[in-house]
Amino acid sequence: MTSTPLDIPEALVDAIRSARSIGVITGAGISVASGIAPYRGKGGVYDDPEEGDRTVEALSGPTLRNDPDRTWRALAKLALMAKDAKPNPGHQALVELEQRVDRFVLLTQNVDGLHEAAGSQNIIDIHGSMSRVYCMGCGDPAPVPDWTTLVQAPECAECHGVLRPDVVLFEEMLPEEKVRRMYEELLQDVPEAVIAVGTTAMFPYILEPIQIARSLGITTLEVNPEHTALSSIVEHHLQAGADVALPALVAAL
Ligand SMILES: [Zn+2]
Repeated sequence: MTSTPLDIPEALVDAIRSARSIGVITGAGISVASGIAPYRGKGGVYDDPEEGDRTVEALSGPTLRNDPDRTWRALAKLALMAKDAKPNPGHQALVELEQRVDRFVLLTQNVDGLHEAAGSQNIIDIHGSMSRVYCMGCGDPAPVPDWTTLVQAPECAECHGVLRPDVVLFEEMLPEEKVRRMYEELLQDVPEAVIAVGTTAMFPYILEPIQIARSLGITTLEVNPEHTALSSIVEHHLQAGADVALPALVAAL
């Protein structure tokens, strides 16, 4: 993404090197190099406003309840676009970062399961993961369906209830347990460094940990090729793709 060597400030390297706890917040940007299109923005799934509106409606809690087949077909479309995606060097660098510190928390907005696939341990997937499915009737976990042949909502083998993916759909609440962990691990016990990767921070719960860390004088870093709402808040901004910037940062430690 960048042809010139990335300039990583020494102060940033020192701060990350000496941090005993690190919090990382990731958005769609970290998975772009894995071939997963972001939902919004140029080339995004919702790029065409009308098509986008229909997709958002299909991927909503009310549609899942009233017309689960429609929701599942929309999910299959997203899943098929991501089916060959593998973790990239950005995901892998975060695994190494986790191994360096006493306490590490990874809050992700992504539902692609790539942090888990890379080997990250303490993940709060606040919007869930497409790699988990459960029954809306009995609550039992169920296998992920074959997306290539899916035409209707799959059924529970136990109770014949309708299955759903363990993701937060539009118009649904964030899961309480994950919200509690997010507050405890990022806002109450603020890590010694906070890094935001590939997120436009359009949700207040993504913006807040960065704002709090910055107000406490804690090292904050944004990794994003673009300028975002976070760029003026953070102390450091590495303006490059996560697959380039994160391995370079970890290598410099
Ligand atoms: Zn069931």
